[in-house]
Amino acid sequence: MNPFLIIILIIIISGYLLDLIVDTLNVRHAGTDVPEEFDGYYDADKYKKSQEYLIENTKFGIVNSTIFIPITIAFILLGGFNIIDQVARGFNLGSIPTGLIFAGILMLASQIILIPFSIYETFVIEEKYGFNKTTTKTFILDILKGWLLAAVIGGAVLSGVLWFFEKAGSWAWLYCWVAVTAFQIFIIFISPVVIMPIFNRFSSLKEGKLKSAIETYSKSQHFKIKGVFTMDGSKRSTKSNAFFTGFGKFRRIVLFDTLIEKHTDEELVSILAHEVGHYKKGHIHKSFALSVITTGLMFYILSLFINNRDLFAAFKMEEVSIYGSLFFFGFLYAPMERVLCVFRNMISRKYEYDADIFSVTTYPKPDSMITALKKLSVENLSNLIPHPLKVFLDYSHPPVIERIKAIRSIFI
Ligand SMILES: [Zn+2]
Repeated sequence: MNPFLIIILIIIISGYLLDLIVDTLNVRHAGTDVPEEFDGYYDADKYKKSQEYLIENTKFGIVNSTIFIPITIAFILLGGFNIIDQVARGFNLGSIPTGLIFAGILMLASQIILIPFSIYETFVIEEKYGFNKTTTKTFILDILKGWLLAAVIGGAVLSGVLWFFEKAGSWAWLYCWVAVTAFQIFIIFISPVVIMPIFNRFSSLKEGKLKSAIETYSKSQHFKIKGVFTMDGSKRSTKSNAFFTGFGKFRRIVLFDTLIEKHTDEELVSILAHEVGHYKKGHIHKSFALSVITTGLMFYILSLFINNRDLFAAFKMEEVSIYGSLFFFGFLYAPMERVLCVFRNMISRKYEYDADIFSVTTYPKPDSMITALKKLSVENLSNLIPHPLKVFLDYSHPPVIERIKAIRSIFI
């Protein structure tokens, strides 16, 4: 048996088993009693509902991968990639358009398989727990817009990468790295004005108490914001959030309409102060720098596997190609990506603590930060007591009870 095939099958199956074990541990770890910290925020019934939500989502994820993984393995073993490659080559176009067709067919096929899952998640699970606000029209339009965007952005990136690997020889990985990073920065800049409005409506926050409270706080921190916007998150879900977008001059804060609806002005300023903390502490720039480094690493390792005949044989391919190399390398890179993700999450959790501390020291109303965190968890039915291994592997934010403890600890 081809050694690459063995390695890839081990990677796929062990990744699946790891998730299965961690998710099972995670569900078992959630006790049935409301944690003391949340007394008054959850009654027994609502807390039970939050646990059912966790169980239902976990089961859904397991069913999802239990279906998807055998399909993927069968597709590899039966030479599915080669069939699609022959179809793409049948158009007799140059290597870059052929690569785009190959990638397009694979992406479209996997997306189509995922649609029923997505329908179930939105219209059955989210609906059952009272989160769903998505209409059928929004759901369909979201899919079509997402595909169009993926075709434009993904197509541009893929064409560039294929072109460099074809023309630039052994330094191609370096050119790809620079070009992709430049493109990423470009996307970050245009995203708030070009991409995000495709999916949501943004409007300037109305003049009033909240707006002046936000402005007073920003001024006190010498923090310039291009604008404070509300986003119609309620178009899809009752879940709420807040975030910053853009860099430098284009920086804007976005508050979901659902967030404004459910929180007091002081809680909202606390949340904003947390986000400002991410900027002031350089988290945004450091995270971006880290992602640039890992992108470079990925392109370099990829360059070692371009047109590797044994790797192509594992996928029963008749002909080697650069576009095929990208896809097959993706399978080998998955465990590396998982390790990097754990590392990124570790840093991100540290940043979250730092941003919380920044919030309560610069806007000294720790109680409103704590109630904001509690309300957010309750509204979104977040798991209050995740298993430590689940947190270690998958959580970009620390569990809420730990965050509250950390905030309290600095005032004692
Ligand atoms: Zn944060």
